[in-house]
Amino acid sequence: MSKTRTRFAPSPTGYLHVGGIRTALFAFLLARQNKGQFILRLEDTDQKREVKGADQHIIDSLHALWIEYDEGPDSGGPHAPYRQSERLEIYKKWAQKLIQSGRAYADPYTPQEVQAFREQAQKDKKPFLYRNHRPKNPPAWDGSQPLRFKSEPKPYQWNDAVMGELSTGPEVIDDFILVKSDGFPTYNFAHIVDDADMQVSHVIRGQEFLASVPNYLNLYEALDITPPVLATMPHILGTDGNKKLSKRDGAKDVLDYIREGYLPEALISFIATLGWNDGTTQEVFTLEELIKKFSLERVGRSGAHFDERRLQWVNGHFIRTIDSGALYTLCQEFWPKEATDYDDEYKKSVLELIKERMKFLAELPELSRFFFVDLPVDETLISSHKQLKKMDSDELKTLLNAAKAELAESDFSATDLTNRLNGLLTITHTKPAVLFSLIRIATTQAAASPGLAETLHVLGKERSLDRIDTQLEAL
Ligand code: GLU
Repeated sequence: MSKTRTRFAPSPTGYLHVGGIRTALFAFLLARQNKGQFILRLEDTDQKREVKGADQHIIDSLHALWIEYDEGPDSGGPHAPYRQSERLEIYKKWAQKLIQSGRAYADPYTPQEVQAFREQAQKDKKPFLYRNHRPKNPPAWDGSQPLRFKSEPKPYQWNDAVMGELSTGPEVIDDFILVKSDGFPTYNFAHIVDDADMQVSHVIRGQEFLASVPNYLNLYEALDITPPVLATMPHILGTDGNKKLSKRDGAKDVLDYIREGYLPEALISFIATLGWNDGTTQEVFTLEELIKKFSLERVGRSGAHFDERRLQWVNGHFIRTIDSGALYTLCQEFWPKEATDYDDEYKKSVLELIKERMKFLAELPELSRFFFVDLPVDETLISSHKQLKKMDSDELKTLLNAAKAELAESDFSATDLTNRLNGLLTITHTKPAVLFSLIRIATTQAAASPGLAETLHVLGKERSLDRIDTQLEAL
């Protein structure tokens, strides 16, 4: 198959987490890189597990992360419908084909009978296989029984674009269900039919399907379909240990990250590097770079560790590199309510300062509140400060009064403030960790702030000196 056509085929059984997005992203990158198509197909054949609204959530998540599909349930395409529950007639036709060629049969057994077979196998210390219990005279398939594949046990050897050369023996091949008694196909059957019908060239999916691949190969043969390139993604593991990713450490809804002010470009870069690298030490990639550089060959075989701190670092990188105007627009919904009455110019200068320390946009209120409102004196800021806690009240007052006198002379330009603050260090014979911390605490009531001179410059003279007075009264 020459054309690259990839697909993301989620089941609408819950929100889309980082692992799902990574699969979608890799499939999308491969399609874009090769000027092919990327398809979204909703695999909604397990009605019991379906979660209402999950399909829309999947669609919203892909859009939010700029992973745009060319064909899909809402956009249509030459192979519509792209929702499996609307394709039942197609599966029925392919099922009939298998029945006609003698490769599928109606399963006549009740759950109790199957249980008895299982127990017998256990007693005989043999693995239980459906193919050992094929009915001699299966009933005609009327849709009320499951339709089972009549497999042809044999060894397989195949190449997985990520995992490399793989092989299995005939013992893993068994008769699996193609169509359930509720009329819906199984994933095992439907995805093979759909991938063939939609001319999918590469199947990129999670590790949980790897063990079933030999059975899929068996079915491809029975249907006379050339298998697509198969690429298995390794698990994403939690930060500590080798456990599979849990909700706590990142298996959360990707839209939650968007809501917290993670930028799409940061999420894309971070997720792409969960298990993939370009062979250099480059850690952050734009979407254009990923489209150019991505390759399945450079996806690692072992699990990738999800580290939220690294995500924050990558996000901080993009916060500091995207255009200031664009960042300001993105921040609109995150300002603290105290910022409401301030004009754009003031807020822009605040943002320029605090973006240096910002990891995600929802931190904006915490990092910026003191620029908008006089916070009450917090005595613990001094009592818990390594150096300041050793000084008595008179010493602190003397130092702060000296600072006040010097700052009162300043025109409050950032340069003049820098010069005067440095001069103060000499005059008062103190270290920045003492003097600057004290002024910082007095003027911000925060444990940390951007550069002191820049902070004072943005706060302005009147406000800064008033706050120093308030602190002096409290000392
Ligand atoms: N519907 C399967 C799932 O959500 C998709 C597996 C595949 O990509 O083929 O896990």
